[in-house]
Order: sequence, then C-alpha cells, then structure tokens
Amino acid sequence: MIQKIEHIGIAVKDLETSNAIFEALFDEAYYKIEDVESEGVKTSFFKCGPNKIELLQATNQDSPIAKFIAKKGEGVHHIAFAVDDIELEIKRLAAKGFRLINEMPKNGADNKLIAFLHPKSSNGVLIELCQENTK
Ligand code: ZN
Repeated sequence: MIQKIEHIGIAVKDLETSNAIFEALFDEAYYKIEDVESEGVKTSFFKCGPNKIELLQATNQDSPIAKFIAKKGEGVHHIAFAVDDIELEIKRLAAKGFRLINEMPKNGADNKLIAFLHPKSSNGVLIELCQENTK
C-alpha cells in the first residue's frame, strides 16, 4: 500500500548553495547529509511536517542527476512514496503496466529500500517507492 508522500527530490547543481536556500525557506537546517556512491549523488534532507525535501547533487558526470540537469536544468526530479511492502508494490505496479527502472529494491539514502518507476509510464514523473529499511 502506498502510505504517503515521503519526500520530494530536487536536483541541484551545488548542494551548499541550495542548502542555504532551503535553510532560509524552512528556517531550519537540514538534518542529514549523505553520499550515495552507488547513485553518484550527494544528498541533504530537510523536514517539512510529515514529509521531507531531498536535495540531490551529482558527484560525477555519469550520475543520473548530472544527466537530468544537463537535459532539464535544476528542479523537481522525483516524488517518493512511502510503502509498507516494497516488493509487493513493485509486483502490483508491474502487473498494472508501470515500467520499472528497478525490478528489485535497492539501498537508497536515508536508510531506505527504494525502487524507481519509469517516468514514461507515469506522466513524465519519476516515482520512487521507498520503505524504511529495518534490516
Ligand atoms: Zn529520493
């Protein structure tokens, strides 16, 4: 079951510059900065009520974030939905015709198991499913 919007991911060119902007917006500092080497990104997380904002900066040219910014510029990159059982949701959505980028969950930032759905099957919106990693 999809439970809520967990976070919104925003692609940025420079994390330090953008951290300052979002600190000013929320009047509160980020609560976490994390390098996700497998994805070629450095991320920061801000709390916004029950939701979060994730800023993503590429750490190499092959990073999906570098490619996104080259194509579209900075901006909203993905919407992440919290799910209670990610493997079940992947199967459910695949059966409904959604194109999967990840057929198996993988480790993401902020201690989550994640999987992405291809934006081509969801109106141009990159969707991330995420489940709290309790292992
Ligand atoms: Zn995310």
